[in-house]
Amino acid sequence: MALMREGETLLFECGEGTQRQMMRYGVSFALSEIFFTHFHADHFLGVIGLMRTLGLQARAEPMRLYGPKGANKLLTQALQLGVERVPFEVEIRELTPGDVVAQRVTDNGQRDGYDIHVFGTEHGGGSVGYALREHERPGRFDPEKARAAGVPEGHLWGKLQRGETVELADGRTVSADGIVGPKRPGRLVVFTGDTRPCAAVVDAAQGADLLIHEATFGEEEKERAKETGHSTAREAAQVALAAKAKRLVLSHVSARYSISAEELVKEAREVFRETTVAKDGMTIEVPFAD
Ligand SMILES: [Zn+2]
Ligand SMILES: [Zn+2]
Repeated sequence: MALMREGETLLFECGEGTQRQMMRYGVSFALSEIFFTHFHADHFLGVIGLMRTLGLQARAEPMRLYGPKGANKLLTQALQLGVERVPFEVEIRELTPGDVVAQRVTDNGQRDGYDIHVFGTEHGGGSVGYALREHERPGRFDPEKARAAGVPEGHLWGKLQRGETVELADGRTVSADGIVGPKRPGRLVVFTGDTRPCAAVVDAAQGADLLIHEATFGEEEKERAKETGHSTAREAAQVALAAKAKRLVLSHVSARYSISAEELVKEAREVFRETTVAKDGMTIEVPFAD
């Protein structure tokens, strides 16, 4: 899953064939972070080919790989398989539930405006999921009110927009209160990776604009889902409902539903209406709530 935000691309998981799909669907190779939820083969084998390709492209920028405990050993081994030496810096960071991968400062000194929160999932030991949580945005600036308060258009407006108090030429001070509205929430996108339905996901996905939850099976294989540490479509929908998410996308569906996952969608929609099922090349826009 490639997440594109403000010109930046983040990759979540890197299954076999990822780089081919990236080329096919025009996903930028100029990415610098990949997040892994766990190390079953279907979630990380693609990193071997991808890193090799990036190396051949004479990439110089460092790459950061994130994953739960075991990431260091497994990813180091995987990279050694792919190429004798990756010609750019690779940093592997092991994460535990509760960790926050903080925003970074971009080249032009701008803040990225979001953090990635790590939460525990239930998939037979040590797996994690990720929540991309944008920071609050400044409130709406009201130009009419600024003019009425005697603040001339120009750099003082920018200061007010940032919530600062400004001083006018006549010595009066004008605060942003009343001219700039209340702060507006950022977006929340949650990616579970493989998991049983669990409370940690419900917590992490409270009010999520988009919840991408695995749904490997349908109701008829409910028992199998339990045995193998996966979820059914209906269970994923129950999580979305409990979290009051705005939208649910089912992913990681079993090969038997690869031709038609309508059955899964139907089962999930009985519980949570705003459900769709992911398929290769699908793009989902996540608009701001306001
Ligand atoms: Zn798995
Ligand atoms: Zn899997």
